[in-house]
Amino acid sequence: MKLKSFITCLAIASCAIASQAAAPKVIAHRGYWNVPGSAQNSIRSLVKADSIGCYASEFDVWMTPDSVLIVNHDPTINGIEIQRTPSAEVLKQKLANGETVPTLEQYFKAAQKLNTRLVLELKTHDSRKQETAALKKTLKLAKKYGLDERLDYIVFSKDAFKQYVKSVPKCSKVYFLNGDYVPAQVKYAKGAGIDYSLKVMKKHPEWIKDCHNRGLEVNVWTVNEPEDMQWCIDQGVDYITTNEPERLQKMLKK
Ligand code: MG
Repeated sequence: MKLKSFITCLAIASCAIASQAAAPKVIAHRGYWNVPGSAQNSIRSLVKADSIGCYASEFDVWMTPDSVLIVNHDPTINGIEIQRTPSAEVLKQKLANGETVPTLEQYFKAAQKLNTRLVLELKTHDSRKQETAALKKTLKLAKKYGLDERLDYIVFSKDAFKQYVKSVPKCSKVYFLNGDYVPAQVKYAKGAGIDYSLKVMKKHPEWIKDCHNRGLEVNVWTVNEPEDMQWCIDQGVDYITTNEPERLQKMLKK
C-alpha cells in the first residue's frame, strides 16, 4: 500500500473510532420499567437496566420523617405522602409489579451485584434541612455499599446543586436538571454538566457545544421517540435518558 493511501485509511479509521467514542450513553429513566414484570423505580427495573447493558439507571429518592430513604418518583405512593409518613407505613406499599416500595439501602444492596452506573435524583423536599439530612444519609449508604465510584447525582434545586457539588466524593458527578442555568453558570458552580429536558435542549441546541467547549457534559431527558433520539445523536450529546433503552440501543448499533 502506498504511503498516501495508508494515511487516508488511517484517517478514516481514526474518524470511525472518534465517532464511535462520541455516541451517547444510554441511561434508563426510572430503571427499565417498560417491560412485563417491571415497574418504575423497582429493584426489578434496576436489574433489567443492568441486564441489557445500560450505561446507567436513573432513580428518585425521598426521605420519610424518621429518616428512611425511599426510592420512588412521585411524592406520594398509593395516596401516602412519603416525606410526611413514618417509614413503617410507607414500606407496606406495593409497586405496580407487586414489589414492595424499596428503600435506598435495598436498592444499593441490589446494585452492588450489578455493573450499571447509578444516577440518583434527590427530590425537592419541603425544607432544605430535610434535603441536607437526606444527602448526608445517602453519602453514608453509598460508602457503606462501596458505590461511590458508580454513583452520579442529578438535582433540580440550585441550592441543593451547589451543596451536592461541595459534598459528594470527587469520583461522583453532579448535573443540574432545572434547565435555567446557562453552561457558564454550571461551570462556575463546578457541576459536571447539564441534564436538561428535550424541550429545553431543542430551544438551546447551542448549549451542547458551549458545554463541550467548557469541559461540561450533556444529558437529555426523557427521550423516547426515534426522531428525538436521532436528533440527540446528531447533536453529539453525551447521555440520553430514556424510557425505551432497548430502542435507543438498537438505533446506536446501526
Ligand atoms: Mg428522576
